[in-house]
Amino acid sequence: MTAFATLPLKPALLASVETLGYATMTPVQEQSLPPMLEGRDAIVQAQTGSGKTAAFGLGLLQALDAETIRLQALVLCPTRELADQVSKAIRKLAANIPNVKLLTLCGGMPLGPQLASLTHDPHIVVGTPGRVQEHLKRGSLHGGGIKVLVLDEADRMLDMGFSEAIDDIVGRIAKHHQTLLFSATYPEEIRAVSRRVQQDPVEVTVDAPAEEKPAIEQQFVEVEPAHKLDALAQLLAGERGQHALVFCNMRKDVDAVAQELDRRGYSALALHGDMEQRDRDEVLVRFANRSCNVLVATDVAARGLDIAALPLVLSHDIAHDPDTHTHRIGRTGRAGETGLAITLCTPRERPKAANIEQALGAPLPWRALKIASPRGKTLNLAPMKTLVIDAGRQDKLRPGDILGALTGDAGLDAKDIGKIDVFATRAYVAISRALATKALERLRAGRIKGRNFRVRALG
Ligand code: AMP
Repeated sequence: MTAFATLPLKPALLASVETLGYATMTPVQEQSLPPMLEGRDAIVQAQTGSGKTAAFGLGLLQALDAETIRLQALVLCPTRELADQVSKAIRKLAANIPNVKLLTLCGGMPLGPQLASLTHDPHIVVGTPGRVQEHLKRGSLHGGGIKVLVLDEADRMLDMGFSEAIDDIVGRIAKHHQTLLFSATYPEEIRAVSRRVQQDPVEVTVDAPAEEKPAIEQQFVEVEPAHKLDALAQLLAGERGQHALVFCNMRKDVDAVAQELDRRGYSALALHGDMEQRDRDEVLVRFANRSCNVLVATDVAARGLDIAALPLVLSHDIAHDPDTHTHRIGRTGRAGETGLAITLCTPRERPKAANIEQALGAPLPWRALKIASPRGKTLNLAPMKTLVIDAGRQDKLRPGDILGALTGDAGLDAKDIGKIDVFATRAYVAISRALATKALERLRAGRIKGRNFRVRALG
C-alpha cells in the first residue's frame, strides 16, 4: 500500500486525490502510475472497480497543459454510460486545475449541439469511437496536439466492432503520443491492437486475490435415460441457467436436446460441427449477446470456442474420457465466482464415471436430484432478443449508426441495447426482450444512416 504523495504528481492533482479521500493507491494504480507518469505506453489488465479510471485520469491530467487551448487527451470508451462516468471522474480529478475544458462526445446524441460546443477545442475529449472518428473526419475536432490516448475497456470496444474506427482515429491524431490501453481480458485481438498502436508498452497485470481464483464446483447426478431431459430442464431453471453450456456426446442429441429445451420455454440453440460458418457465427453471436441462454454443443463444436467462462456447464451425457470431461468443466468458473459443472450419468454410464474418479484421485461428488414432474412451460427465456439487419461493413454500417438509429428516432434507451456485431453483409443487435418488437417496428419504419435496410428478429 503506497500513498499517492510518493508519486511525482502536480500538487493540484495530489490535492484532488486527497479531497476524494483516496488514502493509498489500488494495486492497479500502484503498478501503472509510475511508468505512465514517465510517459511510457501501458497495457493494463483492469476490471471495473480496480481504480483504473483514476489511474489513467491522473496520467492524462499530469501531461496536460491547461494554458494551451488545444485537444491534448482523448479517452475512447465503448458506451455512452461509461463515457459519462469517466468524464465525471476526470472532472473531479481536475477540480483544482483552473480552466480545464472537457467534452463528452458520444454516438446516439444529436450532432448539432456537439458541433456548437466545438468552436474552441477542449483539452480533453471522452467519447465513443464512431462519433469521435466522425468529428476528426469532419475537422470539427483536431487531433494534432494529442499527447495521451486512452482506450478504456478495449475488449468491449472490439466486441462492439469498433476496431476499424480506433485504427482510423490513431491515424488521424498526433504521431507521437502516449497510448494507455485498459482491458479486462487479453484475447489475441487485444494484443494485436496493442502491437498496432503502442510502442514498447509496460504490461500491468494485477493478480486476482487468492480467494478470487476461479473455482469449480462439480456435481454428478445419476438419472435414468428417460429422465435426462427433465433433469436438464430442472437444473437449467435456476439463475445460473441464464448462461449455460450443455454438452452432448452425439450430434443427433444436440439438435434434439436444443429443440426440446426450446419447446419448454428456454432460449436454447444447437451448435455442431456440420453447421455452415454463417449459421455457426449467428449462434455464437446470439449466445454471447444474451439472446440465447442455453447453448447445446458437441465437444468438437465447442473446441476453440471463444466464449467467456460460464456460470454453468452441464453434461447431458457423461464424457467418454476424463480429458474431455476436464475440458468441459474448464468452461465454467471465473475470477471471484465459483463455476458449477453438473454431469448427468445413467446407471449404464457408471464405468465412465469411475474412470473420471480415478483420474481425479478423489471420490466424485454425487448428489440426488428429485425430478419434479414438468408442469406446463417453465419459461426461462433469455433477457435479450436479436435483431438482424441485412447490411454490414460492406455498406459502411458501423455499430454507432445502429446505436444512433435506435436511441435517436426509435427512442430507445441505450441501456436496453446490448451487444452490436457487424459482419461484412449483416449486423446483429441485441435488444431487451420486452422492447424488441418496438425496436423492430421503429427500425423498419425509420432509417439507418439515411437508408432503408431489411431488419428482422431472430427466435
Ligand atoms: P474504477 O475501477 O475506475 O471504476 O473505480 C472504482 C471506484 O474506486 C471509484 O468509485 C473510485 O472513486 C474509487 N477509487 C479509485 N481509486 C481509489 C483509491 N486509490 N482509493 C480508494 N478508492 C478509489
